[in-house]
Amino acid sequence: MLKTRFTEMFGVEHPIVQGGMQWVGKAPLVAAVANAGGLGFITALTQPTPEDLAKEIARCKEMTDKPFGVNLTILPAIKPPPYAEYRAAIIESGVKIVETAGYKPQEHVDHFKEHGIKVIHKCTAVRHALSAERMGVDAISIDGFECAGHPGEDDIPGLILIPAAADKVKIPMIASGGFGDARGLVAALALGAEGINMGTRFCATQEADIHDKVKQQMIENDERSTNLIFRTLHNTARVAKNAVSDEVVAKEREGAKFEDIQHLVSGQRGKVVYSEGDPDHGIWSAGLVQGLIHDIPTVQELLTRIVTEAEGIIRGRLSGFVSGGAAQAAE
Ligand code: NAD
Repeated sequence: MLKTRFTEMFGVEHPIVQGGMQWVGKAPLVAAVANAGGLGFITALTQPTPEDLAKEIARCKEMTDKPFGVNLTILPAIKPPPYAEYRAAIIESGVKIVETAGYKPQEHVDHFKEHGIKVIHKCTAVRHALSAERMGVDAISIDGFECAGHPGEDDIPGLILIPAAADKVKIPMIASGGFGDARGLVAALALGAEGINMGTRFCATQEADIHDKVKQQMIENDERSTNLIFRTLHNTARVAKNAVSDEVVAKEREGAKFEDIQHLVSGQRGKVVYSEGDPDHGIWSAGLVQGLIHDIPTVQELLTRIVTEAEGIIRGRLSGFVSGGAAQAAE
């Protein structure tokens, strides 16, 4: 058992979070994470309407009696979603944990807090973490440059970002970006976080609703298999390297505007990658952690493995260093 302020605050067994993932954060995966002792999040905007979100939350409640949450991400969108209506659906559903991400979450945080909902805000800079703390969120998910999706524009990897945030943030913090195994979890704890958030690693599990060919592609890919798109638009996104993301990067170099690349990057096109299994059909999110993904376990197997091995590293390798047992530490 790894007990932290995070596990205590959110009433979960393990300090491991499956954060919001567009097209992937659906009830069967979220419930599997909850049943395995982690904290999973349904992704609100994956559901076409607020009514569909309410149904997805109800479906998840049928699959688990453990805590789970909903992610609401506020970023530029081709068709801006009705955020207030999604927020109302979350509040009415009775879910008690929300992960917010993106720009200016104040009105969302205020509304959720009024209804007794615990909020974890995911952000990519120390200054944003401090601002979210002042807004009254309960915990921070600090997201390093290694992450899939939107890493912000500062390009600070977790090795610096996590301890820099830990020096200033007082509320519990989980580390995000580049995590996929026990070594990452132990490192995050050492750097000052109280748990980890994983995205890409959960995509390569049995329960993720992603075509097997795309999961196999994640195994074949390595830590160099990502592209950073939207750099020129100040909306950077780390995505899997493929024919489409290569084309977007090339077009941006030539000075393309969003309208020139919209047909390539649309989320609706990316969604088809997951359902049809052609990794080159559109844009799909993936982080540097692909270099550490070598199998497609069940969520239960993954969480048990990470927690068991993390305890082993702490009790064996790390304690060996301080007790002078060099041979034991080298194991
Ligand atoms: P979409 O089809 O609306 O847009 C595709 C991509 O283009 C997204 O990354 C979006 O941020 C970006 N984009 C849209 N308009 C832009 C503009 N004018 N300038 C620069 N970039 C622009 O996106 P979608 O896949 O349907 O997703 C809907 C929303 O959810 C988007 O805001 C997206 O960023 C967000 N999202 C959520 C998660 C999550 O885990 N919850 C992950 C990734 C993205």
